[in-house]
Amino acid sequence: MGQCSITEVIHINCPICKRGGWVIKYGGYESRGAYKHRYRCKRCGRTFVVDYGYKWLHYRPSKVRAALELYAKGLTLREIATFIGCSASTVWRWVMKYAQKLYAYVKRFRPEKVFQLHVDELFLRMKKRFFYVFDAIDKASRFAVFSVQSARNTENAKQLFREAPRAEFIVSDGLHAYREALKKFYHYKWLRSHYYRWHRFKGKHNNNIVERLQGTLRRWLHPKRGFKSLVTASIMLRFFYVYYNFIRFHSTVGCTPAEKAGAVQKEKLRNWKVLIRKAYFLILLPTKFRTEPG
Ligand SMILES: [Zn+2]
Repeated sequence: MGQCSITEVIHINCPICKRGGWVIKYGGYESRGAYKHRYRCKRCGRTFVVDYGYKWLHYRPSKVRAALELYAKGLTLREIATFIGCSASTVWRWVMKYAQKLYAYVKRFRPEKVFQLHVDELFLRMKKRFFYVFDAIDKASRFAVFSVQSARNTENAKQLFREAPRAEFIVSDGLHAYREALKKFYHYKWLRSHYYRWHRFKGKHNNNIVERLQGTLRRWLHPKRGFKSLVTASIMLRFFYVYYNFIRFHSTVGCTPAEKAGAVQKEKLRNWKVLIRKAYFLILLPTKFRTEPG
């Protein structure tokens, strides 16, 4: 392959044609006191500026991160908007944007296997529409996964187990859909001894942990008033997934659930600033230059 040799090649992938080894420096400009390099890809001929996660934003990055943190804490869009000094739709746009980008980055840090998985579903009636939030949580690490659906059936329950890590034991409520859905992922003989159904409030295999998670989720969703659609609902749940597993310090386990589950190194991620920088910039680096946690 004829790579360019006269000018120094910069080791970042071109965001337009997604290929590395052809990018050179191509001037730059001064913005907010910082010099920004412009690069040119000699393969596709396009020039670009590296997006560190705050490109095209009219507000300071610290304000954007504050808005995300407040949204995760459970404030309404309008409350955040008055606090930041922007419009509510701007905050909404940020939430949608970063939820998808960060989720795309952190989904690689899902733990392979957990010990005891608790499964339940949350029923929501919003704006005369029905939603079910299927959720599963690991007892030891409190790592949780969510899946928002419009009906409570086997096919939708399967979607949850597609996203959940493999488990040694599974506890769920009486819903029949889980047994049917689990058959797709585990052997039915295995399920006889490792799957506990309808163990609610007492005994060793009670389902109280997931009830507690649903309390947190319900409290977070309550001021949101309503989902616009199933698509935005699932993006919101992805935002909550990132916050709950990777950023929020869980007092019971003494760190974030992802750290406890061994999916990421301790105190590597854990804040919006690091997470956004990694989600945006690391994608551009060729694989051998990426140093990732976990
Ligand atoms: Zn290119």
